[in-house]
Amino acid sequence: MDKSTRKLLQKAFDNASEYRESLDNRCVFPDAKMLKEMTKLDFPLPEKPNDPEMILELLSKSGSQGTVAVAGPRYFGFVIGGSTPVTLAANWLAGAWDQNCGMDTTSPMAAFVEEISLKWLLELYGFPKACGGAFVTGATMAGFTCLAAARSHLLSRKGWDVEKQGLFGAPLINVTVSEEVHITILKALSMLGLGSERLTKIPTDKNGRMLIDKIPKLKGPTIICVQAGDVNTGCFDPVDEIIDKFKSDDVWIHVDGAFGLWVLVSKKLKHLGKGIEKADSWSVDAHKWLNVPYDSGIALVRNKEALRSAMSISTSYLKSTPGKRQPNEFTPELSRRARGVEIWTAIASLGREGIAEIIERCCAHAKKAAKRLSEAEYKILNDVVINQVLVSFGSDEKTENVIKAIQEDGTCWCGGTKWKGHTAMRISISSWTTTDEDMDNSLDAMIRIAKNIG
Ligand SMILES: *Cc1c(COP(=O)(O)O)cnc(C)c1O
Repeated sequence: MDKSTRKLLQKAFDNASEYRESLDNRCVFPDAKMLKEMTKLDFPLPEKPNDPEMILELLSKSGSQGTVAVAGPRYFGFVIGGSTPVTLAANWLAGAWDQNCGMDTTSPMAAFVEEISLKWLLELYGFPKACGGAFVTGATMAGFTCLAAARSHLLSRKGWDVEKQGLFGAPLINVTVSEEVHITILKALSMLGLGSERLTKIPTDKNGRMLIDKIPKLKGPTIICVQAGDVNTGCFDPVDEIIDKFKSDDVWIHVDGAFGLWVLVSKKLKHLGKGIEKADSWSVDAHKWLNVPYDSGIALVRNKEALRSAMSISTSYLKSTPGKRQPNEFTPELSRRARGVEIWTAIASLGREGIAEIIERCCAHAKKAAKRLSEAEYKILNDVVINQVLVSFGSDEKTENVIKAIQEDGTCWCGGTKWKGHTAMRISISSWTTTDEDMDNSLDAMIRIAKNIG
C-alpha cells in the first residue's frame, strides 16, 4: 500500500472522530449558514483529476455541515437509530475489505458472517432455526422480499410458477392490510404487481391496532400484512389472535416489524409480540433499533424454499461452492456490500442483554416524555406502548407552529404527523446514545417553546 492511502484513511478517521465528538453540542438540524456551506460541493464538473486529499477535506468540511445529527442523542424524528461506535468501525473495516457479498466465491467471509448473523437473529427473536433470511437495504426491501416469497408460494400451490410465467393470467391473490399499514408495504405490493390499492383495508382501534372482528371471511390465496410497531403509535396488531383465527395453507401472514420486532429481545417487553413467531415472514431493520449504520434491513421467511424460489437465478456463470448458503439466492440483488458484518458486530458486542437494555431504555424515555408533556397539560394522543409518543400542543395550527419552532431551536428534532385526523408531533426514541439528561434537556426545550407560542 502506498503511503497516500494510509494518509487519506487517517484523515477520514480524524475528521469522522471530530464529527462524532461534535454531535453532543451542535444543533440537530443544519441551520441556514450550515446549508450554505454545503453548497460548496457544487462546482463545475471537473475535467481533470483533483488531489484526493483536497477533495476529502472539502467533503468533510462542507459536506458535514449539511448533515442532520441523527447519530447524536437528541434526534427524535421518524424512527431512526444511531450507530454504535463499534458498528461504525466495523462498517469502515468492511468498506476497506470491499467485499462483494453475492456468493461464497466472491467472499467466504461475507457469506459466512451473514450465516452467523442470521442464526443469531433467529435465536434472539425466538424464530425457528430453519427460517430463510436475506440482508437487504431496509425494511422496504425486506417487505418486498418477504412478499415476493409469499406470492411465489401461494401461486405455486395453485400450480402457477410466477417466476417463470409472470402474473398475467395467474390465479388471484387477495391482500389484507390494516388502515394504518406502513406506506412501504404498499410500495412493495405495487412493485410486486399485487397493487397498492387492490386491498382489503381493516379499520383500527384508537391506538392503531387492527380490529380483528372487521376482517372479512378470507377466500382463496390471501396475504395478511400485520404490524409489530406502528410508525406513529408503536402499537402491535393482535398478531397472536389473527394467526390463530386465519392461518391456513392458503394464507400467508407477514409481519412488518421494522423497529417493533426488536422488543422480542427484551424479557420485559416481548409479551407485546406474543405469537409473532407463528407468522410466515417478518421484515425488520437493523439500522433502526439495533443501531448499525445505514443501510441494513432483514427479511426472514419461515419457508426458506419459498424465499429461494422467489429470489434465486440459476446460471452456470455464477460458480459457487455446492452445499454452501449463497447470499444471492435469497436477495433481490446479486452484488451487495457485506452488511452482515455490522449486524454480526452489533450482536457480538452488545449480546442479548445489551440489545434489550437499549430497547428498554428508549421505551422508558418515551414514558417519561409522555408523563412530562401531559403534566405540562399537553395532550398525548397515543397509548405509549414502546418508544413512540404523539403529542398535540392544542389546535392543529398551534401544534404545527410548535413543531417548526422546536426544529428551528436545534436542541432536538421531532417531526410532525397526522393521527386520526389530528396534527401531532411525533417523538421517536430509538438511539442508543440518548441519556436521561438528553431527555430532560429536550423536554425542557419542547415545553419552553410550546409555552412561548402560547
Ligand atoms: C421504517 C419503517 C419501514 C420502512 O423501512 P425502511 O428501512 O425505511 O425501508 C417500514 N415499516 C415500518 C413500521 C417502519 O417503521
